[in-house]
Order: sequence, then structure tokens, then C-alpha cells
Amino acid sequence: MTSSTTNNAARKLRRCERCGKYKRALYNINGMNICRDCIRGIAFYQVFKEGFRDPKLRGDVITIGLDIGNLVYYNPHSHAWCSPLVVWIFCKEINIPFYYDSLKKAWRYKVPLDKVMKLYIEEGVFRIEKSETGKEVIVEGEVLKDMLKRYGDRNDVFDIIGAWVTGLIISRLHEEPDAPDFRSIEAIIDALSKETVDSDGNIIAEPYYKVTSYVCRICGGRFPSRDEVRKHLMQVHTTPSDEIMTYVQEESVTIGYLLELSSLVDCLKRNGVSPERLIEKIEKFAILIHDDAEAPRIIEREGKRYIVVDPAWVRVTSRTRIYERELVRGRSLV
Ligand SMILES: [Zn+2]
Ligand SMILES: [Zn+2]
Repeated sequence: MTSSTTNNAARKLRRCERCGKYKRALYNINGMNICRDCIRGIAFYQVFKEGFRDPKLRGDVITIGLDIGNLVYYNPHSHAWCSPLVVWIFCKEINIPFYYDSLKKAWRYKVPLDKVMKLYIEEGVFRIEKSETGKEVIVEGEVLKDMLKRYGDRNDVFDIIGAWVTGLIISRLHEEPDAPDFRSIEAIIDALSKETVDSDGNIIAEPYYKVTSYVCRICGGRFPSRDEVRKHLMQVHTTPSDEIMTYVQEESVTIGYLLELSSLVDCLKRNGVSPERLIEKIEKFAILIHDDAEAPRIIEREGKRYIVVDPAWVRVTSRTRIYERELVRGRSLV
């Protein structure tokens, strides 16, 4: 332990070939010397991408995709990257063809359209076809076809597609060295992987429970509130009022995991993001936090404040850490 620490301290700062930041420890991944933060970004993108094919993770990546969409909504850089998807949904809803030319004419962004489309095509979201009149039409690629097959008959199909594709595109931008960096997402992943899971992907954060029902231990009857189970025990089983609680079993579900607010704030500052702005968005769009309207979003315990994080984020972070460990395993520091 001591010797490796010494070695690390003795290492010179070197430039990560992906993010350009100077770090002491770089790993050789696919021929590039990159830093640990970049490896985590790659792992997150992979988990997000593969998560859609995994029934256990699919709901989680859609939840996170919605949060990512809301997070970057006001970021002007994100508009360019999200606009082909927005236009496609529009065309689909009113059932008109999506001509590449009309997108080209309307393109007002700094980042070239070709570059944005290249990414959509590589991800299997879109394909370009020639129409009978020789015009280029943007149509669904394999991935979108698959999604339409799966969700086509639901009335929220475009919400689901919008969420997942936005999440995929934005997390993929971690791999684009000159794409806008969505630092608040990096900061969130950073905080969650430090505080809520260990390096093996086990969840170490404290769960936050919500009592969903109260069960009578005598007859097994289930009641929605403490008052009702109390009334039941007194009336049906004539239980003396001071003994009632020994006959009540609470049933609960985990609605979130606790993340100390100050650790999130530290990670945000380290990534150059204003904590106030993110907290404002958390409150406005319920980003990162659970979706139970009755439960608190931020709680206080022993003088510390905690965010009650949606379990979807923690589960995806857990997978990300496992993937990250696989990427790093066996690669020596360079
Ligand atoms: Zn890097
Ligand atoms: Zn009973």
C-alpha cells in the first residue's frame, strides 16, 4: 500500500488523451492513454447503451434518460445534439417524411450537422434512405425500429424513446473529445460512484424506506394507515391500547438511497458546475431524486442533509463501477 502510494506521488503529471486534463494515473485503453474519470464516462455510456436490452435495467435507463434530458435542456450546446431526434418525433407524430435537406436548411448550430448525424447513425438510431424522388430521407435505424416494435402501441412511446435516445446521445458525448461536456452529469456520476457503491458495485448507501402498509400480526389483515390497524386491533381483537404496536408489522419499500448533499456539492465544484443551479433543477424537475410525491426529497439527519436519490441512478452507477473495474483490470498504469 505504502509503496504504491509513493509510486503514485512520484509519477509525473501527464495529459489524458481524451479529456486533455493532467493526471498522475493514466490507463491504456484501446491504444489511448486515458484517465480514470474518462474510463468512468465510457463505462456509463456502455451501461446506458446495453441497459436498454436488459429487462432488469431498461426501466432504470429510461428514468435516467429523462433526468439527463431535463438537465441539459437549457444547455444551448445540447440543442444541436438533440434536435434531429426532436424533429423526427415531430414528423412521426404528424406522419410526414423527415427530409435530410429540410434539416440541413434549418441548421443554425455551431456544431456541423454531419457530425451530429454521424453519431445518430453509428448508434443505430437513424438511417438515411433515398426516396423515389431521389431525396434523402431520415428513417429509423435498427435501434429505433426495435423500440417502436416494443413500445409502439403505448401512448407514451415518444416520451420513452425521447428519454432513452437523449440519455444515450448525451452520455456518448463523453467519448467525443471536442463535444460540449455535460459536466453536471459527470459530477453526479462522480458523487454517486464515490458515495453510494463500492468498487465491486455493491450498494453501500443507506436506503430510505417508506411504509406502505401495516399488517395485523394476529390475523394477517393489511391496512393502509397506522390509525386503521389500531382501530382494527382494538375492535376486532380487543387488544389493550398500550399493547397495540407489538401486534403491528410495518411493510416498507425502498424508495431511494441517501447521498450526502455536501459530497454532491464538492463533486459539482470540482467539475466546475454551480451547485445552486443544479439544486434548482433538482427541485424543479425532480432530477436525481425518487418520484414518490409524498416522500421528502431532502432529509436531515444528525445535522447533515441528504438527497434521497432515485434507486435507478444508484443501480446504474453500480453497473457502471463493475464495468469500469473490468475495463481497468489487467491494464497497467502507463
Ligand atoms: Zn480524461
Ligand atoms: Zn387482525
